[in-house]
Amino acid sequence: MKNLWNDLEAKSFIGDDLATCVYTSCLLGAEEDLIVHGGGNTSVKSRVHDFFGREVDVLFVKGSGWDLKNIEKSGFSVLRLEETKLLAELGELNDTEMTKQLRLNMLDQAAPLPSVEAIQHAIMPAKFVDHTHADAVLTLSNNPNGEAIIGDIYSDCLILPYVMPGFILSKQVYNEVKDFDINQYKGIILHRHGVFTYSNNAREAYENMIELVSRAESYISENGVVQHVESQSEVNLLDLARIRKSVSASRGSAQLAMLDQSDEAKGFASRDDIADIASRGPLTPDHVTRTKRIPVILDAKPDENVSEIQSFVNEYKAYFERNKVDGLIMLDPAPRAAVWSSNGTIAFGSTVKECNIITDIARHTRWTIQVGESLGGWKPLSEREIFELEYWVLQQAKLA
Ligand SMILES: [Zn+2]
Repeated sequence: MKNLWNDLEAKSFIGDDLATCVYTSCLLGAEEDLIVHGGGNTSVKSRVHDFFGREVDVLFVKGSGWDLKNIEKSGFSVLRLEETKLLAELGELNDTEMTKQLRLNMLDQAAPLPSVEAIQHAIMPAKFVDHTHADAVLTLSNNPNGEAIIGDIYSDCLILPYVMPGFILSKQVYNEVKDFDINQYKGIILHRHGVFTYSNNAREAYENMIELVSRAESYISENGVVQHVESQSEVNLLDLARIRKSVSASRGSAQLAMLDQSDEAKGFASRDDIADIASRGPLTPDHVTRTKRIPVILDAKPDENVSEIQSFVNEYKAYFERNKVDGLIMLDPAPRAAVWSSNGTIAFGSTVKECNIITDIARHTRWTIQVGESLGGWKPLSEREIFELEYWVLQQAKLA
C-alpha cells in the first residue's frame, strides 16, 4: 500500500490539529482498499474555547454519514473529551443512552453526530487515532487459520477477538488501555473488524496504518491467488428486466438494477463453487445494512418468474425467525445484490447512489472471498453475529 504522505502539503496544516486530521483522513480515504463507503473513522484530540471563552479539551471525531475520502472540517463532530472518556468507565450503557450522552457532549450541535466508535477514539491515549476496515487484514482474519496468521504477522500489535461494535467494543478496548500504555504496540488489530493506529504525531499514526496493512498485503501476494475464470456469455436484457421486476416486487418499490459485467465480475460469477463461496457472509459486518448478509445467486437463464428471488425472500424470513429477539420488526426481505451465473453481478437499489455503493462493496468482497479461499478458506462471522449488526439500531441509523 502506497504511503501518500507529502511533507509539503502537510506543512500548511502545522498548528491546526483539525486540518491535519482532515489531511490524513483524506489520505486514508484515497485508498479504497482501506475504506469503502463510510467504513473507518479518524479523530484528533485538541483544545477549543467554549461559549464563555474557557479552554476545553475536545475530541474531533468523524461524523456519521461522512466519507473519509472527501471529508472536510465540517464533517467532524466535536465532543467534550473528559465526559466522553467517562462513558467507557460505566459498567453498562445501552445504545439509546450512549447516543443521548454523546449528543449531550457535543460542543457544536450543528455539527454531524459522532461516529458510533467515538468512545474508543476518546480513550486511546494518543492525539491522533486512525481506524480502518482494511480489505487485506479482513481477508486474513476471516479465515479458519485467521488467529494464527494474524498472530504471526502482527506480533508487535495488540490483537483483540471480535466483539459487537459500539459500547461493548469500547469497553473491551478500555479494559486493555486503562492499566498500561498501549503505545508500546504499533496498533490494535480487531479480529474480523479492522485496525487502529494512534500517535501524538499525525504522520506516524497514518504511516503505521499503511505499514500494518502493507504487511497483510505482502502476505496475500506471497500466499494467495485469485483464480481467473473466463466467461463469454452475452446478457439477455429481457432476463435482466425480469430480475429487476421481481426484486422490485419483493422490496415493495421500483428498484434500479446496476449490472457489473467486468471480466472480474463475470469470472467470479462463473466459478463452479460460486453458490457456496458467495453465500457465507460479508467482508465486514459493517456492510450488512447495505448488502444484506448474502447476495441472491441467479441461474444464467432464470425461469419466467425468477424463482430464485422468491427463494431468497423465504430464506431471509427464515433467517429473521431463527435470530430475532422480542420487539424486532423484520426489514424488507429483498436482495440488494445478485451474483448472476456467467453474467456478472447486479446491485439493486432505490437510487443510483445506493447501487453504486453496493457495486463497490461487491467488488471488494469478491476479491476478498477469492483470495481468502486460496489462503485456507473464506470464513466470515457467524450468521447470528451478522444478524446482530444488521438489526443494530445504530447501524440502521447510518442509512437514515
Ligand atoms: Zn470499525
